[in-house]
Amino acid sequence: MTEALSEILDIVKRRNPGEGEFLQAAEEVLASLDPLIAKQPELLQQRLVERLVEPERQLIFRVPWTDDAGNVHVNRGFRIEFNSALGPYKGGLRFHPSVNLGVMKFLAFEQLFKNALTGLPIGGGKGGSDFDPKGRSDAEVMRFCQSFMTELYRHLGEYTDVPAGDIGVGGREIGYLFGQYKRITNRYESGVLTGKGLAIGGALVRTEATGYGCVYFVEQMLAARGDALAGKTCVVSGAGNVAIYTIQKLQQLGAKVVACSDSNGVVYDQDGIKLDTVKRLKEVQRRRIAEYVELHPKAEYRGGGNIWDIPCDLAFPSATQNELNGRDAQRLVANGVVAVGEGANMPCTPTAAETFIEAGVAFGPGKAANAGGVATSALEMQQNASRDAWTFAYTDERLSEIMRDIHTLCYETAAEFGVPGNYVVGANIAGFRKVAVAMRTLGVI
Ligand code: GLU
Repeated sequence: MTEALSEILDIVKRRNPGEGEFLQAAEEVLASLDPLIAKQPELLQQRLVERLVEPERQLIFRVPWTDDAGNVHVNRGFRIEFNSALGPYKGGLRFHPSVNLGVMKFLAFEQLFKNALTGLPIGGGKGGSDFDPKGRSDAEVMRFCQSFMTELYRHLGEYTDVPAGDIGVGGREIGYLFGQYKRITNRYESGVLTGKGLAIGGALVRTEATGYGCVYFVEQMLAARGDALAGKTCVVSGAGNVAIYTIQKLQQLGAKVVACSDSNGVVYDQDGIKLDTVKRLKEVQRRRIAEYVELHPKAEYRGGGNIWDIPCDLAFPSATQNELNGRDAQRLVANGVVAVGEGANMPCTPTAAETFIEAGVAFGPGKAANAGGVATSALEMQQNASRDAWTFAYTDERLSEIMRDIHTLCYETAAEFGVPGNYVVGANIAGFRKVAVAMRTLGVI
């Protein structure tokens, strides 16, 4: 890294002590920027890079709520409004016990570049809470969402900040959040939240979009090497929204998915994962994936097992950050993996990503590969603004076009900067350049 960039990284480290995930994400981006700064040194003027790594606003608030037995709980709520140079802050809300300031800031920072890559007018933000929805009743989740929104609403608006879902936040939670926003503000402001149910102004394809988009991106990476998806053996970690629709699209396109997982263990089904079972267990019944083998006795459940031990051609880490480390990457490479699509945000550690790239594996970083979710959120905002509702087929076509364009942008940018096939550098430089140009145009603000 050049001296100027490593000085900026030192400032980031000093300012954000103990925020491991944020520092990891910031270092990865800054480490990619050398060739850009060499070509366009003016980007260092007016402290542009330093402004870009500092969130515009960081909100932390108390979220008190009462459980079904009448006990009071206190959680911490967050919203990081990272950068609005390209449009209103945009990014999901995560409800998970691991949420803290560093996790929120890494997610908001990644989101900023991801959103820039979509080419749509959205800035970057992220929020959430350390609330654990697991085992909570509908009524408890509703009361939590209402309390959370009672503080957050004042910071939101369709032109200001537009949250959506992420881990632990799906259509049910977005419905409760939107209901409370509407009640407090007395406005039916559809464009203030995305990922809404179809009954309240949601968009077709939004549910499927992150998983579908990730498969479209990997399809493009394979096509660039004269290869294709059909007949490939795939492993998809996770069993949430991203994993489920990654599996669905892979199966539709003729690939075979042999494993998925949740935080307790791994299901290995040599004959191919039965998606209806996973969907029923996870989407409808909110159960553990272990129960899959009760219905499909030929499949194997490995409690506490490592999904990356399973040989595959394509790997889709779609659970959570840093779920795939250097050793896992070595094992996947030894087992012949040809492409990796990050369905989750930053699921591969820096060593894992390096291992894939050095081994010549096509590696699609999350900010490019999983941008389909937020891109379709922007399409939901377009539909809300025009009070229109598009068909599934039309929206899916738009999504696949956007993913194709993101692939082309990352691919061409990597080649332009002398590292052909390196989608990490391509995505970081292309995303950074878009935000930087907008920030320069706006002046020192
Ligand atoms: N949470 C998703 C992501 O990581 C989607 C955000 C959105 O739709 O605003 O990109």
